[in-house]
Amino acid sequence: MRTAIAWFRNDLRVHDLPMLAAAVHASDRIVPVFILDNGLVEGAGTSPNRTRFLLESLHDLRAALRRRGGDLFIRSGNPEKELGALAKKTGASEVHFTADYTPFARRRDQKVVAALHKQGIQTVISPGRLAIDDMSVISTSGGQPIKVFTPFFKQWQHVPRRRPAKSPRSITVPDSLSPGDIPTLEKLIRSDETLTVSPKAAKGGEHAGRTRLKRFLESGLTDYHKDNNDLGADATSRLSSYLHFGCLSVREIEKVLPAGDGPAAFHRQLAWRDFYHYIIWYFPGNLHQEFQERYRHLSWHNDTQLLQAWKDGKTGYPIVDAAMRQLQTEGWMHNRARLIVGSFLTKDLGLDWRHGEAHFLQWLCDGDIANNNGNWQWIASVGVDPAPVFRRLYNPSSQAKTYDPDGVYIRRYVPELAEVCDKYLAEPWRMSAEEQGKSGCVIGQDYPRPVIDHAVARKVALERYHRST
Ligand code: FAD
Repeated sequence: MRTAIAWFRNDLRVHDLPMLAAAVHASDRIVPVFILDNGLVEGAGTSPNRTRFLLESLHDLRAALRRRGGDLFIRSGNPEKELGALAKKTGASEVHFTADYTPFARRRDQKVVAALHKQGIQTVISPGRLAIDDMSVISTSGGQPIKVFTPFFKQWQHVPRRRPAKSPRSITVPDSLSPGDIPTLEKLIRSDETLTVSPKAAKGGEHAGRTRLKRFLESGLTDYHKDNNDLGADATSRLSSYLHFGCLSVREIEKVLPAGDGPAAFHRQLAWRDFYHYIIWYFPGNLHQEFQERYRHLSWHNDTQLLQAWKDGKTGYPIVDAAMRQLQTEGWMHNRARLIVGSFLTKDLGLDWRHGEAHFLQWLCDGDIANNNGNWQWIASVGVDPAPVFRRLYNPSSQAKTYDPDGVYIRRYVPELAEVCDKYLAEPWRMSAEEQGKSGCVIGQDYPRPVIDHAVARKVALERYHRST
């Protein structure tokens, strides 16, 4: 009897999962396993939101596998040791898993492959995380990695795609194996005042992801190109966390996209995801330093109070504060808002983008090493896909007027400004004392004064970046 291990990581689904299909195809019985590896358990406290999303996704995956006659086995410890022990116990001759691209994942996978090969166990790596399977097919004419999004996208669109894999109808697992418990959230996280689960975070799991996808395809996709920057409309897919944990397959999504401007604009966003995975694959050093050498010695301010005001959504700039509070409430933030707060942190406050990257990773359910690092470097103007600094130095008040013209977004997350009229909502400090009284919002008392003056901060930022070149 041939036995194969299907090692789940950030591919927590049964639909279109090539590694699962390959494991089932290659053997008479499989051992679907998720390993709570030491790094994950020790780091779990740093993002209660993602830990919760992960645990919900594991429960959902276990239920889906059980419906097919199988199970999800849970183990804790070093993957190479746990997989080796599991192979020995079940007589498995191969271990299947999905290719991953971040430096941490690559180091882990190299160790696992080496250890299993020593035991005479074969490893089979399948695609499934991204829309394209092979990074190397996209390059400059000289065979170098592409560092600018538009030419990447032009090639990406034409890369031949694999056909989505069918979900296995039935799964046979060894009888005598203990399934192991999925730990509770309380067991894994260290919860304190600053580190807690967002009360309105989305539910994890493939089932929840497929439900959300269906809703978006039916009601959000057609006008995506018109509405995706409208903060109040909240009209983007909110699929990012499901894509991060692999609860959804990007190939399955691509496959059901119809023609039209909305689907085309949405498809382009999916390409950004592949782009940043491509970048971290070729430039793993980006995790520790600015991609652009000339900005590696940029002088950052060091002001813990300003950083805290930004984190708490108390900068006195309503659009920034609304966004930062959305992050804490939902474990998610609209893309336009991420851009605004990223520009504000790095340009207006002059604080190191790495503070923003870490804070996002702490709170975002979709917190993803490749996407987060790539986007933070982009908005800080230090990464790939470069543009002049002023192009990514946003005026928070103008951004509020453009992308939240009727103040729906600001009023949703900053209730103390609920009665402020539209005219002053982006810049409430401009209200007269009488207007402040009428709106029930006294600046400096009910809502903070702006922590900086954008016009001044803009000049300082441009000089700072200029000095570094
Ligand atoms: P939609 O607009 O519906 O887009 C569909 C999908 O395309 C998304 O789910 C996502 O997978 C992908 N996508 C869209 N925009 C981008 C982008 N700019 N870069 C990469 N992929 C994209 N995204 C993450 O998934 N994880 C992160 O940790 C993350 N950190 C970010 C940090 C900053 C400073 C910024 C500016 C953006 C970051 N993004 C990150 C990208 C983007 O903001 C989110 O993917 C998007 O807001 C998720 O919402 P959605 O699913 O409704 O997106």
